[in-house]
Amino acid sequence: MHDSLPARHNDPYDWLPPALETIRRAHWHRSVQPLQGRPGPRVHLNGRTQINFASNDYLGLAGDERLVQAAIAATQEFGTGSTGSRLLSGHRELHRELERALAELKQTDDAIVFSSGYLANLGTIAALVGPRDLILSDQYNHSSLQAGARLSGATLVSYRHGDPADLTARLQEHRDRARRCLIATDSVFSMDGDLCPLPDILELADAWDCMVAIDDAHATGILGTTGAGCAEHFGCRDRPLIQIGTLSKALGSLGGYVAGSAALVDFLRNRASSWIYTTALSPADAAAALAALYVLRAEPQRRDRLWQNTACLARELHGLDMLPSESPIRCIRLARAETALALARDLQAAGIFAPAIRPPTVPTSRIRLSVMATHTPEQISQAGTLLRKLCAGS
Ligand SMILES: *Cc1c(COP(=O)(O)O)cnc(C)c1O
Repeated sequence: MHDSLPARHNDPYDWLPPALETIRRAHWHRSVQPLQGRPGPRVHLNGRTQINFASNDYLGLAGDERLVQAAIAATQEFGTGSTGSRLLSGHRELHRELERALAELKQTDDAIVFSSGYLANLGTIAALVGPRDLILSDQYNHSSLQAGARLSGATLVSYRHGDPADLTARLQEHRDRARRCLIATDSVFSMDGDLCPLPDILELADAWDCMVAIDDAHATGILGTTGAGCAEHFGCRDRPLIQIGTLSKALGSLGGYVAGSAALVDFLRNRASSWIYTTALSPADAAAALAALYVLRAEPQRRDRLWQNTACLARELHGLDMLPSESPIRCIRLARAETALALARDLQAAGIFAPAIRPPTVPTSRIRLSVMATHTPEQISQAGTLLRKLCAGS
């Protein structure tokens, strides 16, 4: 049988080392660094303590004893794995309880939880639109929204970042040829920290018969009086809207969700492949997220602290070349990837952990800091002092 195969002399994997070399030459190469211990405003990295400005754990819940105990109790009662998809053998009352609690936070009819925020975006977008349809997408949207758009087969048109006038021009150009149209946007842009112009987007959606999906990954638990996210912040909760988010950031667990009308959620249960053909969220993750929603309601002062700390960091960094932001994500703009990498290294050598973000993740290099409710004023002023000194020298 082997005799009949053509003789081949090329290694089909030999393109990998030169491809990696190209990535390295562009200063785009990435690698992982292990953190030790529980997450928090101080972490242990490479054997030394760092003040942590690299975490999405905005409210400091991922290391909270109540979430840890909820996860342990759920694991003891229900085991480690969910053992099946929700529609077959993986569904637990715990999942429904979590979905009801999310719908209550969002004040929507219903909600559905996915195994990650990435999967929630992917499955929802691909389920809602298809080849006869149109997606209008902010040019800085998260990778998962863009991947969902490509998976859907719909015509994908980007509009200029946060620009309702450009969105209007794209609608005029493309809307009439499409059956359904979905406008999709991050609510808080994850690598910048600014907000989408939600009221303008909803008004355009109304005028042009479009659905709107917002990705509240960095807004859930953070924006709005109760932490319900961007729609609460803008007072738009009475408008039809698809709210997608994650349990993995301010809620300190792992998983994603979609909140909206009962019809939307029922449709996703029947059509979202990334929900149907994957194992249900683990009992530990579901219980930890449920405990986080309880803390969110019981301790609004955590959100107040987060915003106080955010204002404090903004004052510290005033005068540096900051990207516009209305969230706890604060970025210092740097012209070159090498400069950003060198600054991140100098920061880490001095005990401040804040990553360099560079192309291809973002168009311009930057140092990205994210504030936590549990940072102390001293930790924030230490970061500010150091950054002012290092940026003055570069
Ligand atoms: C983190 C993030 C996601 C993905 O959420 P996971 O739960 O981590 O998969 C989706 N969208 C945005 C904007 C994010 O920042």
